[in-house]
Amino acid sequence: MPEPVLEVRDLTVHFYTYAGIVKAIEGVSFDVYRGETFALVGETGCGKSVTSRALTQLIESPGRIVRGKVIYHREDGSTVDLLKLSEEEIREIRGKEIAYIFQDPHASLDPLYTVGYQIAEAMVVHRTVKDWKEGFRRAVDILRRVLIPDPENRVKNYPHELSGGMKQRVVIGIGVSNDPKILIADEPTTALDVTVQAQILDLMNKLKKEYNTTVILITHNMGVVAEMADRVAVMYAGKIVEIGSVDQIFKNPLHPYTKGLLRAVPNPLAKIERLEAIPGTVPNLITPPKGCRFHPRCPYATEICRKEVPKLKEIEPGHFVACHLY
Ligand code: SF4
Repeated sequence: MPEPVLEVRDLTVHFYTYAGIVKAIEGVSFDVYRGETFALVGETGCGKSVTSRALTQLIESPGRIVRGKVIYHREDGSTVDLLKLSEEEIREIRGKEIAYIFQDPHASLDPLYTVGYQIAEAMVVHRTVKDWKEGFRRAVDILRRVLIPDPENRVKNYPHELSGGMKQRVVIGIGVSNDPKILIADEPTTALDVTVQAQILDLMNKLKKEYNTTVILITHNMGVVAEMADRVAVMYAGKIVEIGSVDQIFKNPLHPYTKGLLRAVPNPLAKIERLEAIPGTVPNLITPPKGCRFHPRCPYATEICRKEVPKLKEIEPGHFVACHLY
């Protein structure tokens, strides 16, 4: 049996806006196993980033975690519900045991400080180095590990002196600086051009093996999923609609939404190809559709789909789907 490092149960986050309550994620449950790359995929606004941020209580007002549990299994066998921790306690874990890499490296780095300072700071704050001197020494080593040439000099650079790809390498360096057990990468390559994207994905795969880290990858890009993930959870309108291994999802997708997502991905091996868009738009989450939230866009919708919320069911070992067709 694979060993879980995170068990997420019934996670629900609402945003209290003037227009109404946005039910951004509703009853989300999944396990992440130690050492795997687990991808959360779906269209923009499906709730994947909110889910990843909620894991360590990174939800800001007007958002609120309404209910749920996030059980974190430490290597020594102890467990803790991350949602029950105080701000001070969760800050000890966030950035150290569970680290984030965000989408936009320009926004993640402070223009006023050198990259060496920012890497060293991440270690000084979590006391994984004894002083700043050791922090700067380790920063050079980390720049080398994220394959930045001439790290002894680059460590003194300010972010504006680096290219977009190099900045993202620095952000990844900050992410892995404290040797985290879980690395949450939220669209880590979206802001980069295609060649740099491939280099960053290679780098993340290399670091994952080197540090033996569990990776939670947030992306809308099925190509990135195919390249990186071991298992995949597909999200639609704040709910998980399908979970399976990367093979199960790509070779035998079950949910009509997953099938639609895959039909919208270009296949370089197909000679003539027409990509299909999923008709309709993502629903308003202040008044989400009753029953299955996908029913207004689903070609197979029947009466029951408009009334009853489908539950996530295991159809074959490790392959779950929430759809009344199964
Ligand atoms: Fe389509 Fe019904 Fe399945 Fe929803 S439950 S995906 S509407 S068939």
